[in-house]
Amino acid sequence: MNAHDSERIKGMLEDIGLGEASAPDDADVLVFNTCTIREKPDTRLAAHLGNAKALKERDPERVVAVGGCYAEAQRDRIFSQYPFVDVAFGPGSIPHLAEWLGAGGHGVSRSAFGIAEERRFAATLPTHRERSFQAWVQVSMGCNSKCAYCIVPSVRGREVSRRPGEIVAEVTRLASEGVKEITLLGQNVNSWGRDLRPDLDTEFGELLRACDAVDGIERIRFTSPHPKDFRDPVIAAIAECAAVCEHVHLPLQSGSTRILKAMRRTYSRERYVALAAKLRASIPDLAVGTDIIVGFPGETETDFAETLEVVEEVGYDSAYTFVYSPRAGTEAAEMPDQVPDEVKHERIERLVELVQRVAAERNLSRVGAVEEVLVEGTSRTDAAKLRGRTRRNTTVNFVGAAAPGELVHVEIHAASSTTLSGRQAALVAA
Ligand code: SAM
Ligand code: SF4
Repeated sequence: MNAHDSERIKGMLEDIGLGEASAPDDADVLVFNTCTIREKPDTRLAAHLGNAKALKERDPERVVAVGGCYAEAQRDRIFSQYPFVDVAFGPGSIPHLAEWLGAGGHGVSRSAFGIAEERRFAATLPTHRERSFQAWVQVSMGCNSKCAYCIVPSVRGREVSRRPGEIVAEVTRLASEGVKEITLLGQNVNSWGRDLRPDLDTEFGELLRACDAVDGIERIRFTSPHPKDFRDPVIAAIAECAAVCEHVHLPLQSGSTRILKAMRRTYSRERYVALAAKLRASIPDLAVGTDIIVGFPGETETDFAETLEVVEEVGYDSAYTFVYSPRAGTEAAEMPDQVPDEVKHERIERLVELVQRVAAERNLSRVGAVEEVLVEGTSRTDAAKLRGRTRRNTTVNFVGAAAPGELVHVEIHAASSTTLSGRQAALVAA
């Protein structure tokens, strides 16, 4: 979501005549789009702002803007903590940034917190897309869940869905511009539509079907879904829509029902595992990814062992693993029994080792298969090779001849825990 917000910020700045500088020293305007999901991004921002302060001292006319979730979380403190910051704005206020930066000759409104009263979709703004053939499509903003560890609901607000007609119009326009792959975006993407009028076909499965019907869209992805909202019509739509990819992100967070309850995730270990099995049974060749947090308050060795068991049982193709990071203002930050750092770190090492072994086994089973790959560019590790992604969302480095944006077939020859490698099928035949 932040990457997408950054594209909108870039597009909007270009629209008011600002181009990208090659380095911060050369920039007249510095915009930081921040994340505050864990402590690490906060610490990194502090270092970046230290540099920005030095640049501002050299050239006081330079404008420093801080946007995104950190700015929203710190709205009462940001100007006292960082007095050199000119403009700050929350994630729902991106559409107003141009005004605050002085577009239209009004001058920069310095030290004004640019939080608009009304949150607005950034989706209607111009975009600076990294690749012409892939696009994010925001379908909702905010989140109505109350996961005990998570800062998102307080910085991005309650869930608001975009109207289906508006979303499909955007997808149709993107297809006409040559976009082949879209990723539908929402903090809780598959609960989309609950706040809209029921007569508008406001069920996420319906939205997948409507996007699938748009000519030219070859691949549809969506992130991040919540296990509680994978109802049967959604599973059926994934299975039946040709463009919807065989990849589902199914955030587990913990394999212990006791911890899941404390996290307020609203599912048990058994319900989660049954859902994963149902998805695999309904969608042939499905790849399943996940998010896991270790060291949530009160997590015992037995709870953690259950998380390891679920990783083995579900057999994830990929996983993002996080050390629990207390966020001020969340329920979990106030809980007793915070897990000591050394225990969290020892657990995450064991988890990462297992996740890598399981993912490597899953990837190894693709060796010998021919996968459809959307070419993204040159391999990051070998400039003589190309790089792309399979429908199952695995990165492939391969020998071939194709341009970014082309769909090619690649015969898979080798695998690691995160990537596949192979040779373009036409070249194999030749
Ligand atoms: N809405 C998505 C869901 O429900 O799974 C997740 C969105 S959140 C931005 C991405 C991931 O960050 C979460 O799935 C969780 O694993 C992780 N996360 C959130 N808060 C965290 C915290 N306080 N400490 C560690 N990881 C956290
Ligand atoms: Fe955070 Fe996701 Fe839970 Fe919403 S559903 S509170 S975004 S973890």
